Amino acid sequence: MRRATFRYPAPSRPANVAPMKTALQTIAGFDRIGEENAFAVLARAQELAASGRDIINLGIGQPDFRTPENIVEAAIRALRDGHHGYTPATGLPQLREAVAADLHRRFGVELSPGNIIIVPGGKVTMFAAILMLGEPGADILYPDPGFPIYRSMIEFTGARPVPVPIREENGFAISAEEVLSLLTPRTRLLILNSPANPCGGVTPKAEIDRLVQGMAEHPKLAILSDEIYDQMLYDGQTHTTLLAYPEIRDRLILLNGWSKTYAMTGWRLGWSAWPDALFDKVRKLAVNAWSCVNAPAQYAAIEALTGPQDAVAAMVAEFDTRRKLVVELLNQLPGVSCVTPKGAFYAFPNISGTGFKAKDLASKLLEQAGVATIGGPDFGTLGEGYIRLSYANSQDNIRRAIDRMHDFLGERG
Ligand code: PLP
Repeated sequence: MRRATFRYPAPSRPANVAPMKTALQTIAGFDRIGEENAFAVLARAQELAASGRDIINLGIGQPDFRTPENIVEAAIRALRDGHHGYTPATGLPQLREAVAADLHRRFGVELSPGNIIIVPGGKVTMFAAILMLGEPGADILYPDPGFPIYRSMIEFTGARPVPVPIREENGFAISAEEVLSLLTPRTRLLILNSPANPCGGVTPKAEIDRLVQGMAEHPKLAILSDEIYDQMLYDGQTHTTLLAYPEIRDRLILLNGWSKTYAMTGWRLGWSAWPDALFDKVRKLAVNAWSCVNAPAQYAAIEALTGPQDAVAAMVAEFDTRRKLVVELLNQLPGVSCVTPKGAFYAFPNISGTGFKAKDLASKLLEQAGVATIGGPDFGTLGEGYIRLSYANSQDNIRRAIDRMHDFLGERG
């Protein structure tokens, strides 16, 4: 007797549902996702160096210092002590408490550890925040020139990216009035970054006060404040954190981490503060995406925050010396002028007088002069006419790099 073969009925597809994609087709967002060209430049610089060329890398934004020894030791100890398993998705409770205590120590800010999540790197917070709040029909404001992942992620979600111009004539700080003039009922999220990558600008407290005051008229607006360079400040400036404004706490996401302050870029370690209404969502995203940050790195992070801070002070003092050096030398180059950056570890010289387009100059400097920099347009349309140099490199290398730039520009001048 032949057995009847059971067939599942073909599911009926409502008219408004897109047809099934083939195996290699992706959702539209993946056609729009961008990247960070600093990693491509790093790869090319390493390739040239491997072929025997002497390359000076002022491209990638990471401290050239080792992670302080007490922090490394804490990670090794954690491994020896058997901390090999998962931690809570939101991070070790004692680490979340250490972050809250550090904020209180540095800014007098009260933040509940219950609003803090430990994440694998600073970038993860912008990924999570933009993914959560971006969608077609919403506008997201972001700095231009700015960290390239903001725009990439905004486009990924289908939201409309609205650039906030960062201008040289304003010392690369944002203007509160200009930002407020760009807000509309469609603006879902405002991304701020101070001290800033790539321009080194720092937004003065008075501008932040004015901005926060103006936000009262836009109660539906959320804010993502990227404060990852909050300790990289010079000339006696102090950092103003957006956490110091209780009136926006219920719609503020704050991005920070260990990468820059403690020279820990490769550890992939960050933290963020989330309002009550979003915290459980980011916790669930963690459970779905990364489970938790690796355990020994979290023990290292506790040591970073609670141990001696002199290595940070020494690193910032050295960056300050290099900052002055880099600006002085860049201003001697033909066709180049450079405002003094106030924070982070980047110089953003105006190269429009050299006659080169920015990306062309960056590419020629790497291929012909052996100096890796990043073209300004990699940070946004307003970056044309500028290149970014990271001065997280030795004074000696900075001198050699700018000498080479001098020869290159002089020969073509
Ligand atoms: N935010 C800004 C402004 C940055 O410049 C960077 C790194 O360059 C990050 C966030 C990301 O930091 P992390 O390496 O911890 O992901």
